[in-house]
Amino acid sequence: MKILVINCGSSSLKYQIFDMSDESVLAKGLVEKIGLPGSFLKHRRGDEDNIIVESNMQNHEEAMGLVIDTLMDEKYGVVKSVDEIKAVGHRVVHAGERYAGSVLINEDVMQALKQCIELAPLHNPPNIMGVDVCAKLMPKAPQVAVFDTAFHQTMPQTAYLYGIPLELYRKYGIRRYGFHGTSHRYVSERAAHMLGRPAGEVKVITCHLGNGASVAAIDGGKSVDTSMGFTPLEGLLMGTRSGDLDPAVVPFLMEKENMNSEQVSNFLNKKCGVMGISEVSSDFRVIEQAASEGNSQAQLALDMYYYRVRKYVGAYAAALGSVDAIVFTAGLGENSPEVREEVCKHLGFMGVKLDLTKNRVRGKEVDLSSDNAKVKVLLIPTNEELIIARDTKELVSSH
Ligand code: AMP
Repeated sequence: MKILVINCGSSSLKYQIFDMSDESVLAKGLVEKIGLPGSFLKHRRGDEDNIIVESNMQNHEEAMGLVIDTLMDEKYGVVKSVDEIKAVGHRVVHAGERYAGSVLINEDVMQALKQCIELAPLHNPPNIMGVDVCAKLMPKAPQVAVFDTAFHQTMPQTAYLYGIPLELYRKYGIRRYGFHGTSHRYVSERAAHMLGRPAGEVKVITCHLGNGASVAAIDGGKSVDTSMGFTPLEGLLMGTRSGDLDPAVVPFLMEKENMNSEQVSNFLNKKCGVMGISEVSSDFRVIEQAASEGNSQAQLALDMYYYRVRKYVGAYAAALGSVDAIVFTAGLGENSPEVREEVCKHLGFMGVKLDLTKNRVRGKEVDLSSDNAKVKVLLIPTNEELIIARDTKELVSSH
C-alpha cells in the first residue's frame, strides 16, 4: 500500500510517499515559497540526488499539482497513476480536546478543524487547505488527520489547567494542549524499545529541540506533562519564541512600546528567543559559531537555552517520580553534542551520566550514557512522517 504524507504550512508543503509493505520511503520533498516570487519544488527519489523544479506556484493547489506530477514523472517518479496512492495522511496541528488520536477525515472532522482555527490561527488554515486540495486532486484516496495535540490529551487536569477561573476554560477552552505530540510519541516508543522494556512500564523525558522546542514527561507511554501550552509559545526558549514569561510583561510591553494584541503576539513569537537574546540568528549553528568566536551575547543565549531545558528536565523528573531515560531529538537535539552535554551537565544528582565520547555523534539512534548510568541518555532521530503513515494505514485498513 502506497501512502502519501503531507505537512502543509502557510507557504510550504512537505511530502513523503511510503511503501507500507516495508515502510520504505519511495520519495520525499518539499515546495517552498508558495504564492511568493521564486517558488520551487525539491524532490528526491530513494537515495538519489535532489532535483529542483522552479515553477511559479500561486497557491497550494498548484503546488500539490506539481507534487503529483513529479510523483508520476517518468524519470523521477515513483507511481504510474495517482490511483496507486491509496491514502493520504496529514499532519494537523490543533484538534483542541476533540481528538485524542488520529481520525479518518469526513465532514464532521473538517468542521471540528475549522472550529480549532481560533486556537491555531497560523497552523490550522494551511493544514485544512492541504486536505481540501488533496480531496480535489485525489478524490478516491481516503484522508487521515494526525494531530500534534492528540498525544498530550492524556495530561491530567492538574497539569493542563492554568490558574485562571475555570469558567474561562469552559467558555473558551483556555488550557494547556501541548504540541509536537507525534514526535514525542514516536521517540518515547523507540526509547522503550531501546531499553528493552514494554512502553507501559517506562518513564521517559523527551526533549524535542528544533526551531520550535518542547519537553514532555511520559509515564507508561502516556504524556503527563509538556512544556508547550495553549499555543506553541509557552515553555522553552526557542529560535524566535520567548517561551515562559511573566504574563504581566505583556500589558507592560503593550503600553510602553505602543503595541496592540496582534503586534505583541507577533513580537513574542518572531522576535524573541535565542534570536532576541543573541541578536545574531535563530539558527544554533550560527549562534554556536559566534559564541566560539567570543560573542558574549551569543554565549548568553546558549546558556539561557541550556538552563531552561535542564530546568524542565528537573521539573519533569519530579512530576514522574523516577526517570528511566532522557531522550534528545529534532534538529538541535539530534545534531548538537554541545546541547546534550550542557543539558546533562548538572543532572548527575538524579543518575544521569553522559559518555562524552559516545556523545560525539549526529542523527543516529544511540545510547549516549555511561555504562553504569541509572538514567539513560538516548539520541533518537524523530520520524513524525512514519507515525502519520502508520496511523493512516491502520485507519484506512480497518475501515
Ligand atoms: P528542526 O526544526 O527540527 O528542523 O530544527 C532546526 C534547527 O536545528 C535549526 O534552526 C538549527 O538551530 C538546529 N540545527 C540543525 N543542525 C544543527 C547542527 N549541526 N548543529 C547545531 N544546530 C543544528
